[in-house]
Amino acid sequence: MLQIYNTLTRQKEYFRPLHEGHVGMYVCGPTVYGDAHLGHARPAITFDLLYRYFLHLGYKVRYVRNITDVGHLEHDADEGEDKIAKKARLEQLEPMEVVQYYTNRYHHDMEALNVLPPSIEPHASGHIIEQIAFVQRILDHGYAYISNGSVYMDVEKYAKDFPYGKLSGRNLEDIKTDTRELDGQDEKKHSYDFALWKKAAPEHIMHWPSPWSEGFPGWHMECSTMGTKYLGEEFDIHGGGMDLMFPHHEAEIAQSCAALGHDTVHYWMHNNMITIAGKKMGKSYNNFITLGQFFTGEHPLLTKPFSPMTIRFFILMAHYRSTVDFSSEALEAAEKGLARLQEAYNRLMRLTPSPESTVQIGNIREKCEEAMEDDLNSPIVISHLFESAKAINTVADGKGTISAADLKELQDVWKTFVFDILGLRLNDNSDTGSTTAEAYKGAVDLLLNIRLDAKRNKDWTTSDRIRNSLTELGFSIKDTKDGFEWSI
Ligand code: ZN
Repeated sequence: MLQIYNTLTRQKEYFRPLHEGHVGMYVCGPTVYGDAHLGHARPAITFDLLYRYFLHLGYKVRYVRNITDVGHLEHDADEGEDKIAKKARLEQLEPMEVVQYYTNRYHHDMEALNVLPPSIEPHASGHIIEQIAFVQRILDHGYAYISNGSVYMDVEKYAKDFPYGKLSGRNLEDIKTDTRELDGQDEKKHSYDFALWKKAAPEHIMHWPSPWSEGFPGWHMECSTMGTKYLGEEFDIHGGGMDLMFPHHEAEIAQSCAALGHDTVHYWMHNNMITIAGKKMGKSYNNFITLGQFFTGEHPLLTKPFSPMTIRFFILMAHYRSTVDFSSEALEAAEKGLARLQEAYNRLMRLTPSPESTVQIGNIREKCEEAMEDDLNSPIVISHLFESAKAINTVADGKGTISAADLKELQDVWKTFVFDILGLRLNDNSDTGSTTAEAYKGAVDLLLNIRLDAKRNKDWTTSDRIRNSLTELGFSIKDTKDGFEWSI
């Protein structure tokens, strides 16, 4: 039975779905104002692994991953210019052109990484009405206040009734000491209050009408709104990167509890970060490498280009809750590992069965399943696959034999775990060379036999059509006493 680590309770828990046979999961997606980088690949691949495993277990999964296209401001949640609007201003584009352009590129990168598309991919800007209604519910319950056309969460009031900070393990006192004092000019009561709705400054180009002002929703609001809209007031899983735990996810919990009176999410899951030489990767550091740069190798920190599958394998080689330190050498090691996996797969598919097995395949399926059920332990799954490669090599080298049943089981386990669950695309070149050639030869023979029949029936139209078409395609056909010969 699947166990996952719940960030909220800080322990591994058996996964029990809210509705039998169904899973609802929400994952925070990208803010689409630039190309995706390695830091985007990790949550996408982590939750793709979870999504694929649920599908493997036979669940019907509704997977929602949003696109943030409004309200994510430069500094934290409610200060600075909107990231999309800034890009649009610099590039002299309509903000939605920026959104569409980077959304398309994000999809392209995700497809290259073999990340399955979510069931629903809602945009924040497409849910303004719902967000306004959500803010109104919080106001109605007395946990927010209006100030100068903006609406803020009254964190102190909320914290009297609900535990604020429970996800990140902070309490209000810690948060108070961590935040700066207000300078008296601020429209907020406290510096730790966060915006639910912001009145747009005159130069702000993305704004919508609301009961409070012409403005835009606070960044955290979209996830509370769209998560509950598509998955219900209570749903199974909410995921994202660890960096989103505070303030984003903490704020989301507060908004949902304030509006609905109860928690929405049963299991909170967070993937750890990717570092470069021990430092968090990001635009503010000089270690920002986009996925496109990995694929082309065009970055000073890269020794060569790396395929999307190498990136995927590199990420899956670590457990999602461990940090991963990137270096070009580490990627080269992943590339070699993936090549070994490919070679073992090719050999496995070419093995021929014997009456009996002299090699042990063990209970490899159970072992791989156990690893996945232990909080998605992909590195252990990979190590089990490599372990079974020893038996494959023994048989392929003629030093052992494998029975038909064992061979079928091993091939099936490899296909299930490598392709369906880990989502690795290997070249399926095990025997395609010979089967393609056979199929091709069979098809040409079939056409020429039809032509022979046509000739016997004096159907010259069909006979000529087949000969002329094949000749045009570059075939040379010779009629012989017994039938025909052909070549290219
Ligand atoms: Zn979110």
